[in-house]
Amino acid sequence: YMLQVGINGYGTIGKRVADAVRAQPDMEVVGVAKTRPNFEAEGAVENGYSLYAAIEERAELFDEAGIELAGMVEEMVEEADVVVDACPSGIGADNKSLYEEYDTPALYQGGEDADVADVSFNARANYEEAVDAQHVRVVSCNTTGLSRLIAPLREEYGVEKVRATLVRRGGDPAQTGRGPINDIVPNPVKLPSHHGPDVKTIFPDLAIDTLGLKVPATLMHMHSVNVSLESEPDAEEVRELLEEQSRIFVVPERMDIDGAGKLKEYAMDRGRPRADLWENCLWGESVSMEGNDLYLFQAIHQESDVVPENVDAIRAVTNSADARESIETTNDALEIGF
Ligand code: NAD
Repeated sequence: YMLQVGINGYGTIGKRVADAVRAQPDMEVVGVAKTRPNFEAEGAVENGYSLYAAIEERAELFDEAGIELAGMVEEMVEEADVVVDACPSGIGADNKSLYEEYDTPALYQGGEDADVADVSFNARANYEEAVDAQHVRVVSCNTTGLSRLIAPLREEYGVEKVRATLVRRGGDPAQTGRGPINDIVPNPVKLPSHHGPDVKTIFPDLAIDTLGLKVPATLMHMHSVNVSLESEPDAEEVRELLEEQSRIFVVPERMDIDGAGKLKEYAMDRGRPRADLWENCLWGESVSMEGNDLYLFQAIHQESDVVPENVDAIRAVTNSADARESIETTNDALEIGF
């Protein structure tokens, strides 16, 4: 049996999730829903996805643009075993009643408030909590990146406290209206940034403080991380632990990758779809220990690191695989890991 997956909201995250679902051996895309007939709607049809109109009054705009619709979003939700909502922040919460009406389990994205869902999700950290859940929120790109890092450190060494400064890209490459274009902005200026509390939706008892800035970049986020551990492993041992994590790419010194620009170049050279980097990209050389304090830098590709997490969350809510099996299947299908 192939799990039938609908994707409501076919933008930056939605189109990537659709392609990732299609690549899985146990899933099929029922269709994708959009509000308007832009280039992404055309692309969806071009890629062979059934396209549904998300807003009834706008359905005729698709006809006018010569884009064929398969129906209205309600039909897609009814047909699907799971819906992935990848609408802009806040719209997911508005859509919740639609998913409830058809009794279709739904995944929401990190832009939604945590209370939209029963569980906030990261595959490496708390897959089991989402098993058979009806409403699950896949946490944001930054929270995903931090959770993947913190989970093995907690298991192996114990974590006293995490302090992280997040240097955030001003906007995605296609977000023409975002900024800053020539500034370095503490954001939010008042502590804490929302990321720390968000990480606590995954690890409720974790001590974590986060600070955020926004900079004129679109490629990736960069995290400067300090973790006070409950023991004092040497840096080499920590590095090996991180290298074992399937969704952490520990960038070796020999590659001479000095920033997000070369990381993206590497992703393009390797033929990654949309130059995506699904893994945390963590500089091996930066992994340092001072007493029980671990320090490191990692870059997070905001547009794609949550994609494999959505795929795993689909298997969790349908209880169709356990964590290890799902993560392995997803990784194999997408060829995650360099
Ligand atoms: P986006 O604007 O690129 O895509 C959203 C899509 O939803 C657009 O195609 C839009 O036309 C469509 N849409 C709008 N209203 C709709 C409706 N009522 N029904 C159906 N479709 C509708 O946004 P995005 O960057 O993909 O973000 C989606 C979610 O993912 C947000 O919660 C965001 O916070 C989260 N997220 C974004 C990123 C990122 O960096 N882009 C990273 C992680 C999580």
